Amino acid sequence: MVKIKETEVQQDKSVFGRLAASNHEKVVFCHDHATGLKAIIAVHSTVLGPALGGTRMWAYASESEALDDVLRLSRNMTYKAAISGLNVGGGKAIIIGDAQKDKSEALFRKFGRFIKNLNGSFITAEDIGTTIKDMEYIRMETEHVAGVSEAMGGGGDPAPLIAYGTYMGMKAAAKKAFGSDSLDGKKVAVQGVGQAGCYLVELLAKENAQIAIADIYEDRLHEVSSKFGTQVVGMDDLYDLDMDIFAPCALGGTINDNTIGRLKCKIIAGSANNQLRDEAVHGPALVERDILYAPDFLINAGGLINVYSELVGYNRESAYAHTERIYSYTLDVLEKAEKEGIHTQLAATKLAEKRIAEISSVRSTY
Ligand code: NAD
Repeated sequence: MVKIKETEVQQDKSVFGRLAASNHEKVVFCHDHATGLKAIIAVHSTVLGPALGGTRMWAYASESEALDDVLRLSRNMTYKAAISGLNVGGGKAIIIGDAQKDKSEALFRKFGRFIKNLNGSFITAEDIGTTIKDMEYIRMETEHVAGVSEAMGGGGDPAPLIAYGTYMGMKAAAKKAFGSDSLDGKKVAVQGVGQAGCYLVELLAKENAQIAIADIYEDRLHEVSSKFGTQVVGMDDLYDLDMDIFAPCALGGTINDNTIGRLKCKIIAGSANNQLRDEAVHGPALVERDILYAPDFLINAGGLINVYSELVGYNRESAYAHTERIYSYTLDVLEKAEKEGIHTQLAATKLAEKRIAEISSVRSTY
């Protein structure tokens, strides 16, 4: 009898094994010798509408890592859109390369041709490593791109809306944990003061929160701390800080086996995607430690809401009004988690899946 190794049973790492595990509809590998383009477009779900998701440019250590990332991120987009009441599905693209060195007009235009060939089943926008300018090169080849400049009919910078939604989610979590949504005097530690983190600090400062910040870049730290009077903390020291709220606004995976035991906060609410290294492990671990987690894909949906607004006729005020609803969506999720005795990320996922299932049945009638 052939003995199958336990790891093989648990995880089929073949390409189709990975697609099956995350239930993806379609994955497109794009290659172009002339421009050096190597990209992967992952369409996770088009049940609610065309798959909408940013294009990330990153120097991945391996192709396998790149595939894992695009699959994880595109699935996340499906849930983000579903729970925010948007009529779009989830997708994401990655371009393998160094955003500082490997960009060219031709590369992005060639990538635009690949998107064009998907006939609107995938629509892209900016993400880490890509800019409005890159989106405008894509726009030269296909209309299936959002996140272009206001001059080209786009919604402009999404970061203020990401921060606003995160702030709304944080206030809802405060309401649940402290009985009041006021952040006045609350000690908030912001990890990463980039585009979204910086706007979040501004909102928190207006509400007189006591803010501590950490970032890789000294000049960034100096700029933000002198503007908003925040405390500056070392990147690793941030986890041990005496704080009420931890706001991860840098990269994903910072809630993990090494950090959870160090956190003394009551709430985690930040803009980063995929904050929990392993949802099934770290979601329940936070419940055990009595830390209320505001689900990332829910509270950072302001950027997606802004891009979605471009597709239906851009209006900044209505994008803000929709983003403000993240407050009530978050309260709903926190109530559900408490009622069902499950962790909050799972409660959010279940609500998103419920909407997808219901709308899928609506659409079964011709
Ligand atoms: P950004 O690159 O502008 O900012 C991230 C900041 O985090 C940078 O200043 C970086 O130096 C810092 N950083 C990285 N690792 C760190 C660490 N270990 N400790 C402290 N600081 C660290 O990115 P952004 O656009 O502000 O996005 C931040 C997060 O929000 C990302 O996880 C992103 O996926 C997520 N997000 C972005 C969007 C968007 O449209 N930009 C939308 C939703 C969610």
